[in-house]
Amino acid sequence: MRDRLHLFHGSLKLPGMKVIFYSMKSYDEHYFSQANEDERYELVFHEFKLDANSAKLAAGAEAVCAFVNDHLDRATLEVLHQGGTQFLAMRCAGFNNVDLRAAQELGISVVRVPAYSPYAVAEHTLALLLALNRRLYRAYNRVREGNFSLEGLVGFDLHGKTVGVVGTGKIGLEVVRLFKGFGCEVLCNDVKENDAALELGVTYVTREVLLARSDIVTLHCPLVEATRHMIDAAAIAEMKSGVMLLNTSRGALVDTSAVIGGLKSGKIGYLGIDVYEEEDNLFFEDQSTRIMQDDVFARLLTFPNVLITGHQAFLTSHALTQIAGTTLQNLEELSETGSCANQLFCS
Ligand code: NAD
Repeated sequence: MRDRLHLFHGSLKLPGMKVIFYSMKSYDEHYFSQANEDERYELVFHEFKLDANSAKLAAGAEAVCAFVNDHLDRATLEVLHQGGTQFLAMRCAGFNNVDLRAAQELGISVVRVPAYSPYAVAEHTLALLLALNRRLYRAYNRVREGNFSLEGLVGFDLHGKTVGVVGTGKIGLEVVRLFKGFGCEVLCNDVKENDAALELGVTYVTREVLLARSDIVTLHCPLVEATRHMIDAAAIAEMKSGVMLLNTSRGALVDTSAVIGGLKSGKIGYLGIDVYEEEDNLFFEDQSTRIMQDDVFARLLTFPNVLITGHQAFLTSHALTQIAGTTLQNLEELSETGSCANQLFCS
């Protein structure tokens, strides 16, 4: 008994479930500590990523919490299983980095946060668009240097433009709402139509028609085998000349080399991305003193009409509060009932 009792603030308390966190940043720690104010859980925060090697550090803990670029392949899951992990809580919506079949075979229950703030991601998508269109990043630097020239800053009216939204789930729907607010015509493509989007006055079309007619194409579908490289050289050839391509979903929806070809030829007039196919080796860390090894990414950085953010579309205080609260709630539900509404199963 003595082993199981921990002293918290002078009072004797049974320790809660131990949760080992990977890929943690200061903002994650802040919001998770806030959500765990009542010390229901024993939280252990690691800054480094989860992989087959670092998974050993979770030995003895019932639960592990991971993020978008952690390596949750079979090898990692086996190490977690050997260490006694029963629950894997993803603190994100996407789960393309988790081998769900392996998790199921090993008896590890996987949960995620399917919705925390579709507004955060939708609004960031519009932020990319507006900054690109009105060249805010160039204007900001010019004005700071006392250069008030407007040469090269000509934008376009968003009002009246045709926007193609691929994927009209929670985020796509909010994106539709925002574009409708700007007075755009909105074309949508999805494997199933969303009544709420139809009520906003969108038209569902095939992907081919969407690509051929849209001035702006924005991606909001998950990364699965059917959507991997959905924007490839053939898709780009279908698009309008000077099209703006936005991706705040997952990097591998887009074949980056093909997009570079499109940018060089002028077919793609603007590119705004918050995600990148090989972001795993780049994002979420300060790499400013290192030599860039990714030549494709380095080439992207040379274009004046490309705006890249490092997977920050989700990063609002509201979203972080929701993510932390739902993640701990998911674990509570799993440990108390053995199942959870936000549980993932392999198809
Ligand atoms: P969601 O599940 O609510 O919606 C996804 C939609 O895509 C669904 O309507 C689905 O039917 C549709 N879809 C599936 N396959 C498709 C296909 N082949 N073609 C067209 N549509 C297809 O998900 P959501 O919450 O709207 O999130 C969308 C994506 O955004 C997530 O998968 C995630 O990868 C990404 N995301 C990114 C960030 C970020 O910070 N950048 C944050 C959260 C989510």
